[in-house]
This record gives sequence, C-alpha cells and structure tokens, in this order.
Amino acid sequence: MMEKYHLYINGQNVEAKKYESLYSPYSNEKIAEVAIADEDETDAAIEAAYKARKIIAKMPAYKRADILEHVVSLLKEKADECARLISLESAKPIATSKGEVSRTIMTYKFAAEEARRIHGETIPMDAAPGGEGRVSYTTREPIGVIGAITPFNFPMNLVAHKVGPAIASGNSIVLKPAEQTPLSALFIAELFEQAGLPAGVLNVIPGYGHIAGDRLVQDERVKAITFTGSPSVGKLIRSKAGLKKVTLELGSNSALIVDDGTDLDTMIDRAVMGAFSNAGQVCISLQRVYVHENLYEIFVEKFTKKTEQLTLGDPLNEKTDISALIRPKEVDRALNWISNAEREGAAILTGGKREGNTLYPTVLTNVPSGSSISCQEAFAPVVVINKIKSVEEGIEYVNDSKYGLQAGIYTNSLVTALNAAEKLEVGGVMINDIPTFRVDHMPYGGVKESGTGREGIKYAIEEMTEMKLISFKK
Ligand code: NAD
Repeated sequence: MMEKYHLYINGQNVEAKKYESLYSPYSNEKIAEVAIADEDETDAAIEAAYKARKIIAKMPAYKRADILEHVVSLLKEKADECARLISLESAKPIATSKGEVSRTIMTYKFAAEEARRIHGETIPMDAAPGGEGRVSYTTREPIGVIGAITPFNFPMNLVAHKVGPAIASGNSIVLKPAEQTPLSALFIAELFEQAGLPAGVLNVIPGYGHIAGDRLVQDERVKAITFTGSPSVGKLIRSKAGLKKVTLELGSNSALIVDDGTDLDTMIDRAVMGAFSNAGQVCISLQRVYVHENLYEIFVEKFTKKTEQLTLGDPLNEKTDISALIRPKEVDRALNWISNAEREGAAILTGGKREGNTLYPTVLTNVPSGSSISCQEAFAPVVVINKIKSVEEGIEYVNDSKYGLQAGIYTNSLVTALNAAEKLEVGGVMINDIPTFRVDHMPYGGVKESGTGREGIKYAIEEMTEMKLISFKK
C-alpha cells in the first residue's frame, strides 16, 4: 500500500482535509500520498508552536543539547533510510544523498554544541559620563515562534540549518518544506519526537507556498521567518513579513576565476563536481568560469572531457552522477536558455540535450554575459567557460551580476588572492577552491539578490534570538 503522510502538529500525526500524490521526478512513479495544509491547518500548527514556545524557552541548555545529540545518534542509525528518502523524493543521486545525510548529522551536532554556548557580554557602562555605578550585561533570548520555509534541493540539510539552531536557542518552529520534498522533513520530526522534544515545539506542514507559506509569513504570532529558496519568492516574503525578522538565503550564478599558473590537474575534477553535483541544483553551483587566456584552451579541453565521463541515470543507482531535474519544465527552461545562447553566438561543447527529465551536463563557451544562461541562475547542469586577460578582468565579470553568494579563485599569488578577496562582491570568497565549497558551521549567505542574514549554526542563532540588556544600579 502506498504510504500516506499526514500533517505533524503538536506532536501528533494529524489527518488533513486534502492529500495529493507525490511522484518521483526521475521515473514519474507515484511514491506517496501527502497531506496539503490549508490555512486553518497552518493556523493550528502556528497555535501549537505558540503554546509550546514557553516550554522550549524554559528548557535548560543542556537538555536542548541532549535532544539534539539524541537526534544525531538516531540519524547515524538511520542514515541509509534517510538517503533513500532524499533520492526518492528529489531524484538526487544516492551517493550525493549519503553525503547530504552526513552533513545533516554534522549540522545537528553543531547545533547541539552551540546550544551550550549562547551568551552575552558585560558592558562597561562607566565609559559614558553618567553611566558610573552600574553592572550591566546582555543576554540572548529566544524570539518565540519561527516560521521556516525550505527548498527542494537539500531537503534534509537545509531543514537542519533552520530546525537545529531554532531548537538550540529555545524557539518553537513551524516548518513548511518544499512541495516536492516533504518526506525527509516529516521523517526528522519523527526523530525529534523519539529524542524527547516536547509536543508543539516542532510542527511540519507540507503544503503550498502561496497558501501555508503565505499564512506563516503574515501571521502575527510568528516572530521570524527563515527562508531558503528563489530570489523572487524571497522578495515577496520580505514585502509581506511586516516587522518580523527575515533571513533570506537565495540563489546565485556563482563564478570561479582561474589565474595563470594554476595546476589544472589538481582542480579540474573539483570544478566539474562543483558544476554538476545534484545536476547543478545547488545555490552555489559553479555556473561561470573565467580562465586566464594562457590556460583557457587546455582548461576547456580537460573540463569537457571529464564532463563527458559523468554517468546519467537512476538516482537510486550508486554509480549515477546526474539524474533528473526536479520538474520537467526546468529541463525545458534550461534547454531554452541554452538555445537562446547558441543563437547569440555561444558554442555547445557537450550536452545541450535531454533524456527524459535528465538534462545532459552541458558546457558552453562564447556566451555573451547578458545571455540568460549566464546572468540568471541556471539551477541546471550547465556551465559557461570564458576567457580573460587578467584576474582584474575576471573580478569585473564576477561582480557584473545581480547575485553575490560565493565566489572562488585559483591563484598562486598571495597579492592577487588578497586583492580578489577584497574586491569580490559576495558573502564568501574561496581562495584556491570552487565557490561551491561549504561546511556547515561557517557563516553562509549572500549579498545583493542572494539574500540577507547568515546561516551556519552560530550565525543563525544570532538571527533567531533577541539581545536583551540588563543594567544594575549599585
Ligand atoms: P522556491 O522559491 O520555488 O521554493 C522555496 C520554498 O518557498 C518552498 O517551500 C515553496 O513552497 C515556498 N514558497 C513558494 N511561494 C511562496 C510564497 N508565496 N510564500 C511563502 N512561501 C512560498 O525555490 P525551490 O525551487 O524550492 O529552490 C530553488 C531555489 O532555492 C534556488 O533559487 C536556489 O538558489 C535557492 N537556494 C538557496 C540556498 C542558499 O542557502 N542560499 C540553498 C538552496 C537553494
């Protein structure tokens, strides 16, 4: 029998009024029946979180840390099951899904550790005339109910980046996972229940963005929205959220500069991985490469050769590197952008075609910088390789983007590296690495249309708590 997934509200699996079928993006087979929260059901989840907010706020740090540690050990036991769920619902190749589960474990581990070190500072009030005779300090208080809205592309780890810090810092949460990936989100709720999280602290409501998501964004009881997803939805959320705190982790068209003198053999595999991992559906996927003219021909040749060695196929097959995009219309969109670029003078060195819902990994050269496949977020297995005369020129191209999440530069010159670090307009600069590099405790987030605020547990906790000042007059 097809498994039926319900809403998870106040520690219970709650029957919804409406269910929809969930299909595999790869095989189009039906994989589950999933509840779709309407406005009243969303309201019930918010109410449960609102009631539970005081319980979690009062729980001592060591207990919150223990619950998170318990989830870490359950995740380790169930790692294979988790990876399978991710691959089933999102068509992520199983080897990559296993990597995501390992990272999710680290994210909750960091959350458990950070739970124990949320503290303020003492303020020397006597630094100002009239401030003498006081002992003053700050604390960080939980904000209350947090609305978390997540995308499909890292369904478990990006949920962890919201649920982990929220619980670590004593908040309750209503989580609305992406339409295509509710299963792994409901699974984590089960693990938190087993780990002893009080009912109502974590609520999961599968459903539509414009219904359940919109309700979360506009409800007065929800004090902060943490959103990861597309820039267009991010802007809409910001415009509707009123005075709530809003963290936005949005998209990009991330770029890499390759300076003259780079040893290509030490980095080419990594660059190919950065461009095509999860079929390019990564917010920091490598989309634009700017290579020094002295290395350009050889870089293009090596990169294209490696790309052609990637294996397309079933996400549940261990050997698969590239599988289906999340929806058939994303394949249509990417192919459309590729053929527009070709019309504008680009050369397709490999790829540019589909097999079912899978787009062949595609390498393009000679793409004008105003072409959609270069200046918009591709979110597909497509990379554009360009020739530059100098790193300076490369930096200008990288910055000529409405996005600014991360950028990478390979160079042997310290001066060039420091110069690039200063001039690149992004949230993170990776020297001698691809822009796709991320570990889960580092501050992570963008500038420009890539968003506002930072994740990485410690930094997310800053966004999810309010600073309070206490001043004692002696
Ligand atoms: P999306 O914006 O379509 O959806 C993300 C979430 O927003 C979903 O849960 C969706 O239901 C919800 N949503 C949609 N409309 C809404 C509305 N009106 N109100 C409230 N919620 C609404 O994005 P996606 O296709 O799932 O994910 C891809 C995007 O996410 C890409 O742009 C990618 O770059 C970005 N992303 C960013 C990061 C990061 O950390 N910066 C990480 C991963 C993905």
